[in-house]
Formats: sequence, structure tokens, C-alpha cells
Amino acid sequence: MDFVSGLRCRECGRAYPAEALHVCDYCFGPLEVSYDYERVAATMTRERIAAGPRSIWRYADLLPVADPAPVDLGAGFTPLIRAERLAAELGLGELWIKDDTANPTGSFKDRVVSVALTKARQLGFKVAACASTGNLANSVAAHAARAGMESVVLIPHDLEKAKVTMTAVYGGRVISVEGSYDDVNRLCAELTSEQPSWAFVNVNVRTYYAEGSKTLAFEVAEQLGWQAPDHVVVPIGSGSQLTKVAKGFAELWKVGLLDEEPSVRISGAQASGCAPVATAFAEGTDAIRPVKPDTIAKSLAIGNPADGWYALDAIRTSGGSCASVTDDEVIAGIRLLARTEGIFAETAGGVTIATLAKLAAQGVVRSDERVVALVTGHGLKTVEALTGEVGPTTTIAPTLEAFAAAMGGDSLSTNESDARSTS
Ligand SMILES: *Cc1c(COP(=O)(O)O)cnc(C)c1O
Ligand SMILES: [Zn+2]
Repeated sequence: MDFVSGLRCRECGRAYPAEALHVCDYCFGPLEVSYDYERVAATMTRERIAAGPRSIWRYADLLPVADPAPVDLGAGFTPLIRAERLAAELGLGELWIKDDTANPTGSFKDRVVSVALTKARQLGFKVAACASTGNLANSVAAHAARAGMESVVLIPHDLEKAKVTMTAVYGGRVISVEGSYDDVNRLCAELTSEQPSWAFVNVNVRTYYAEGSKTLAFEVAEQLGWQAPDHVVVPIGSGSQLTKVAKGFAELWKVGLLDEEPSVRISGAQASGCAPVATAFAEGTDAIRPVKPDTIAKSLAIGNPADGWYALDAIRTSGGSCASVTDDEVIAGIRLLARTEGIFAETAGGVTIATLAKLAAQGVVRSDERVVALVTGHGLKTVEALTGEVGPTTTIAPTLEAFAAAMGGDSLSTNESDARSTS
């Protein structure tokens, strides 16, 4: 039994049943899942969670679908890693990395897809579909294979090679569209009415999909000993993840799982080549102007973000900030995280780390705060971004002499061992 009391319009508050609905019939506002929090509070204890699986499903009482055998590849319960060396470089105090590179298909999207397809299967859908900037495609194809569902994923034609291969290998249909993500998304919105028997995870079952991101907040709090952090830095694509991270902390308090009322500042991270939310934040407006994306951070390249306004609102009400970083800064962010903490992130992770660095330098993220940065995807997905940036320090013949010459008297305790450009 789940604890869902229904769906509710985020704009006008009208109630709907928990079906495959995503917009309000009256005002076209997005729908959100609501729960019977009193019943959740009476059931969901720290002990019950600790006895649950080491995945997002340990928090099933606050997820929109109950299923003893969910569509599950083991998403979630990823490491929360204390990052002392990175903190020292950035002049911060207590810094943690939420390492979502460790998810089954290498990104945080496994959280949302596991929830979406479990609900879709329960609603009777046989086909899983999506519009994707890459990681969602990987995850939908993998989870559909696991569930024995067919999959149809639509991607923009210029995605990173690894993301295309990683999607196609699972055997579903991969449709490459000559257009941007926003074009693909529009096509999917049209297809949703043509194909009512397909579950488009980020369209007609988006309401359920979105709830999966709350598990980032749940895990961070549990891993910090049931305390909320002071500040979280979250990358923004559609803005759904950031919005739901905020909801997640609020829900934990509502159901009595935290000792202290959380006061979490939430800051957003975008790439300068696609920064509609950061721009609106900087200009102090409510209007998010769509942009045409041009950035190496393709997983965040959504020019017209569906939840952009809600993300902006969550940032402002939490007292956080929102900034954007150039592609060069993204690459520097990827390298900085790898060099200091041994974590290899994709470009979206580079956006988070570079934005964290920028906000720390501005004094917005402070050294007296307990800070968590969400690193949401694995670096092997976007190796192209580092072409010409890193490579072998040197190439030698297989002899001791050549090795000695290459080392040139270098001592390994100096910084000389840093990777050098191959070009
Ligand atoms: C999709 C994605 C995001 C952004 O999530 P939204 O909910 O669209 O804002 C961040 N990081 C990675 C790696 C992603 O794939
Ligand atoms: Zn409404």
C-alpha cells in the first residue's frame, strides 16, 4: 500500500486521482503527488528505513508507488563522500560530494526512472518512452529491459557517443532526431496524444518520475545521521531535480525523521551556454526566457526548462543562489574533482563543481556551512569533453633508460605528476 492521497495542481490546487495525468485540465499547471503525511509519519521510522534495501526503495513510504518487486537495477544509496582536499582548495569547511556517478547506468536518472517505470507498469503501460538529453535515454532503455517492457527513446542527433551506445545496447528503439532537445521534447509531447498506451517518463508520467529525485535529499540526510546540510549545490536541466530536493528535505521534517527543522540553502548550477534560470536569478525577474543551448554540458542543455520557474522559486525562498560557468570552467571543474577526490564526473558534474567554486569565491557558499554538492553523472559518458585536455604524461620505448629519461629526475612528491596536455 502506498500513502499517495492523489495528485494536486501546483498552481490552482485542484485535486486529481493518481493516474497517468500530468497537467491540470483547468489551468494547465503541472500536477504534483500528494501524500497522507500523518499516515506516513506513523509508519516511516529510521529503523524501518535502515532495515530496507540499499537503494531508493528504502524510502518507498514517500515514493508514489508501492510494489514489493519494483523495476529496480539498484538505483540510489550512492556514497556521500567527505571532500577535505577539495574543500581546502576552495576555502570551504565541511564539504561532501553526493556521488551519483555510482548509479547503475552512471547517472542520477536511475532514481527517477526506477520510480516512473514501476508506476507505469502498475498503470498497465507496456512501452517506456522518453525525450532525453542522454542520461535519461540510458536509464529508460536499461530499466525497460529489466522490466521486460519495450522502449522507444528519442534523443537529439548530436549526443555524446557513449550515451548513444549505452542506450542502444539494451535493445530498445533509439530515434535520433535532427534538432535540439527542446525540439525532441516538443515532438514527444505531440506523440503522447498519438500513443496513449506509451509511458513517456518525462511527459505523461512525469508527475511520478519527478518524485524519484527526492531520494537525493533523503539519502543525504540519512547519511549525515538524520541531519540536513546547510547548503546544497544542484545542477539544473529541466529544474525538476532541484525542486524535488527541496521538497525532500521538507517532507523528512513533516514526517518527523529529522530532529531539527531543516534550513537548507539550495543553489543552482548551469552552464553559461544554457543558463535560462541563472539569467533570471541574476536579473531578479520571474520570467524565464528560453535560450538556444550551446554548451558541452549536454545533459543540462534544456533551453526551455519545464520546472525552471519552480527551481528559481525554491532557490529564492531557501536563500540560495544560482550561477553559470563557461565550458572551460566546466572542464576545470571535472579535473579539479578528479585530481582532489578521485571522482570522475561527466560535464554536468563539472558544472556543479565549477559553480560551487564560483559561489565559494563570492562568499555565497560559506566556510561555516555544511555543504553538499550533487555530482550527478559519470565521466566516462562524456570523455569527448576532455579530448586534448588530458592524456599520457609521456610515451616511451619499453626500456628502463627511456623511463629514467622520461622521469627526468622528477620526484613524485612534487606537483610535476599532474597530467599534462598531450597536444
Ligand atoms: C538530467 C540531468 C540533470 C538535471 O536534472 P533536471 O531534473 O532535468 O534538472 C543533472 N545531471 C545529470 C547528469 C542529468 O542527466
Ligand atoms: Zn490547476
